[in-house]
Order: sequence, then C-alpha cells, then structure tokens
Amino acid sequence: MKNIILTGDRPTGKLHIGHYVGSLKGRVELQNSGKFDKSYIMIADAQALTDNFANPEKVRANVTEVALDYLACGIDPQKSTVFVQSHVAELTELTFYYMNLVTLARLERNPTVKAEIKQKGFGASLPMGFLTYPVSQTADITAFKATCVPVGEDQLPMLEQAREIVRSFNGLYGETLVEPKALLPENKSCLRLPGTDGMAKMSKSLGNCIYLSDSADEIKRKVMSMYTDPNHLKVTDPGNTSENPTFIYLDAFSSDEHFQKYLPEYANLAEMKAHYERGGLGDMKVKKFLNAVMQETLEPIRARREELEKDIPAIWEMLKKGSEEAKAVAGETLAEVKKAMKIDYFAE
Ligand code: ATP
Ligand code: MG
Repeated sequence: MKNIILTGDRPTGKLHIGHYVGSLKGRVELQNSGKFDKSYIMIADAQALTDNFANPEKVRANVTEVALDYLACGIDPQKSTVFVQSHVAELTELTFYYMNLVTLARLERNPTVKAEIKQKGFGASLPMGFLTYPVSQTADITAFKATCVPVGEDQLPMLEQAREIVRSFNGLYGETLVEPKALLPENKSCLRLPGTDGMAKMSKSLGNCIYLSDSADEIKRKVMSMYTDPNHLKVTDPGNTSENPTFIYLDAFSSDEHFQKYLPEYANLAEMKAHYERGGLGDMKVKKFLNAVMQETLEPIRARREELEKDIPAIWEMLKKGSEEAKAVAGETLAEVKKAMKIDYFAE
C-alpha cells in the first residue's frame, strides 16, 4: 500500500499560527521527508460554504490567501498537489453515497460539530450541509486513498467518522476504501493552540488570531495585549503557566537558542516558567520575549508571502493544474466505488 497524505483548510480567513503549528508545519516536513508517495493539500471551499453560504465573496477571496500562506510556509507545488475542493465534483458524488452509511444521531454526536453549531448559534436553522460536513470530509480523504491526515486535535472526531464509514463501506461492498490515520503534532501545546484572548482555540471565526501574514507591528500589538493569568496581578504574585497562552505559545515556538539570543538570564523555558510560578516575573517581560520569538519565526514567512503576492495569476494557475490532477485521481476512486456498489452500468 502506498503512503499518501491528504489535508486541507477552509478558506474562511488567512491562516494563523495555530494552523501553522497544528498542521501546516508538519505537512511541510512530511512533504520533504521523502517518506510519502503523494501529498494532496485541499482548499476546502465547498466545506467553507456550508456555514458561509451567504458570503461567497469571503470564501473566494480567501482561496488565494490560503494558497499564499501554503507556499509561504514551504508547501512546494512540485512535491504536493494543491487543489480546490469545489473543482473536484467527484468528491460531492462520493459524499452522496457515503451519506447512506451514517445516521443523523451519529452526526449529532460529533463533539467538534456540536461545539461549532453552538459557537455559530445556528439553533433550529442548522443547515444540513453543515451537519454533514464530516461525511464530505470522508469523501475528501478516501478519494485520494489517504493513509495519513496531519491535523490539529479538533479534527480527531472527523477522522474517527471517516474510519467508520470506510469500515461500513468495505463491509457492505467489499474491500475498496483505505482507512486513514490522523497524525497529530508531537508537541502537546500545538494540538489546539489557544487564542490570544485565552479562548480554548485560536480560530479564524473567533477573531483571536495572530496571522502568518500579520505585519511586525500587528504581531507586537497582539502579543502585548494577550490574555495571561488573571490572578497574576502584581509582579511578585505567583503565576500560572499551564493555562496561560503566553507560556503555551512559548512552548510551541521558543527554543533554547531564543533564550541565548534574547533573554540569556534563563537557560531555557523551564527556568523561566519556574520563576513565573514562584512570583517575581512580570507579564511584560514574558510578552517582550514572546514578541521577539514570534517576530523571528514569522518574518521569513511574511517576506516570502509578499513576494508571492506579486503574481496572483500564477497562484490560480497552480490551483487549476492541481485541481485537474486531483480530479483525475478522485475519478479513479469513484469508478471503483461505483463498481463495488454495482452501479457501474455502462463501464466497458
Ligand atoms: P474555522 O473557524 O473556519 O473552522 P479554523 O481556524 O478552525 O477555521 P480550519 O480550516 O477549520 O481552521 O482547520 C485547518 C487545520 O488547522 C485543521 O487541521 C485543524 O485541526 C488545524 N487547526 C485549526 N485551528 C487550530 C489551532 N488553534 N491549533 C492547532 N491546530 C489548529
Ligand atoms: Mg475549523
């Protein structure tokens, strides 16, 4: 069996540092590791429309923004196929057949979907398309026979759903689809990076993000106004580091080299945390250090992005080519699915 990666992002905004540590950074490493036969990266515009159907301009504008973020972070179109979901109609067809293999109760139990329904305040007007997006995600993954899906923790219920559908399909119609595995970041603080406001997840839809494309000034402003430990009022007060987003970001981004360069009074993050926990270390100093780390991390990404922004037609061209390639592969899987389901009436 081949080793195949599939991942994607919804074009609902520019990508942020949560996407970077949760999935994007890992994808670039996997892409360059040579351990995979194929890597597909999907801009999930059809999925984005399930909760942004009244806002198609937003989705359209963010297709190029997400593509720019990919390339700026090191996704290489020579090594990875980058494509647009809505241009691979085979995915919609697969979704329709998979719908028969999932119950309404099962979809309603999905904890990520549940939380998102609440967060978006759909109430009684929940669109069917939104509720069923985990099924469409299964189509995306299985169409490419993906074995490995690098994602943040919030996507685990989607992967579980996908595995269940694959098992039902193969059980009913014969061994056809491949069961995918989620690949989570090793660094625990990257599983679900919190927002700058202290909310559990940095999310485009919550507006609590540091974007990969933010200017140096914006990064500084956001870092300096970050939520910290609300009980750490005076510098001398003992502070909490485990639920404090400034320390979680340092867990995700800082290295011993950063300490040598910007804050040599500590050898490493453990020493700095210990000081904060026993009291005597102020939030301002922590934020200044975090700002230095973030600036160093994001500067090269932003510079590459600014170069790429000069040629947007080249971005569309890459997406068109990638979508054609993806369509051909998904078409092969769809033909196998139809054969297994005995609806391949006119096949040779
Ligand atoms: P939306 O609010 O529109 O759903 P989002 O910010 O959740 O946007 P997605 O496009 O849904 O972003 O997710 C893309 C990928 O990034 C997924 O693999 C997801 O697990 C990961 N991801 C998103 N937010 C975070 C985060 N805060 N920490 C770690 N990984 C994240
Ligand atoms: Mg999301």
